[in-house]
Amino acid sequence: MKIAFIGLGNMGGGMAANLAKAGHEVRAFDLSEEALARAKDAGCATFGSARAAAEDCEAVVSMLPNGAIVRDVYTSDIIGQAPQGTVFLDCSTIDVATAKDVIALAENAGYDMVDAPVSGGIAAANGGTLTFMVGGTEEAFERAKPILEAMGKAVIHAGEAGAGQTAKICNNMLLAITMIGTAEAMKMAERLGLDPQKFYEISSQSSGYNWSLNAYTPLPGVGVESPADNDYQGGFATALMLKDLRLAMEAAETSDSAVPLGSRAASLYEDFAGAGNGGLDFSAIIKTYS
Ligand code: NAD
Repeated sequence: MKIAFIGLGNMGGGMAANLAKAGHEVRAFDLSEEALARAKDAGCATFGSARAAAEDCEAVVSMLPNGAIVRDVYTSDIIGQAPQGTVFLDCSTIDVATAKDVIALAENAGYDMVDAPVSGGIAAANGGTLTFMVGGTEEAFERAKPILEAMGKAVIHAGEAGAGQTAKICNNMLLAITMIGTAEAMKMAERLGLDPQKFYEISSQSSGYNWSLNAYTPLPGVGVESPADNDYQGGFATALMLKDLRLAMEAAETSDSAVPLGSRAASLYEDFAGAGNGGLDFSAIIKTYS
């Protein structure tokens, strides 16, 4: 297929390369010359604007920083510019309201479109092992699925337009809460004189079992190997967790949802990032518990 790919950053670069590796003709655009050069090395054709990349294609994939940029790129350069019949896949993490709006604009102009945010970081983007949670009509999902499969290990239809973003932010709000809860319990156990490794052995097989404890243990040398064992480098950056929590808080407000723990988690991550820790893995929040 001829696929226009817009946004070749940390995530998009690897994803575009995997589409090229799968035999697709990738027409790439990014504002950064450096990102364009990397895409060229990975076998993509490069263009001087999103409009030029999209003017001759069958699908558009985007991986951009935020909702305002996604809206701007689609309304200025893609909708009405890409050939009729093109399917659009926005894989960025953005607010639910913008995702729904842009899909409605695309549909009104006769295009199929899905929101398809991802779980998995840069390593999964490079390795083609992302999980995609997809919102959109059944028909749009069926068209998007084979394209997403070339970049990921799981592609799940979450529901109608915006459902992918909803799944993503609710999942990450839960992840933030379980990480903070795990950190709190581990440090309190330690202060009470319990060996943290013993706490891990017991709780990971008891009702305290959860992914943050069992699969991503936030204390170095305890439980499974995780970014904690690498000085909290790599993994999922605190700044990105904070971005997702802010989106979750926005969605909680618009849907009038009660999120006392989510909002507390958002404010704890806000403080932690504000203290200069945005680049550390999100499990480093345990450092705030002495
Ligand atoms: P990034 O900043 O590395 O990449 C974004 C790219 O978009 C940059 O190369 C930038 O030059 C380009 N860009 C910005 N405006 C543009 C425009 N108008 N036209 C064309 N290109 C433009 O960010 P990233 O880490 O690749 O993240 C991309 C998206 O994926 C975000 O929405 C993020 O929340 C989401 N995400 C990231 C991760 C992660 O671990 N990095 C994990 C899951 C989801």
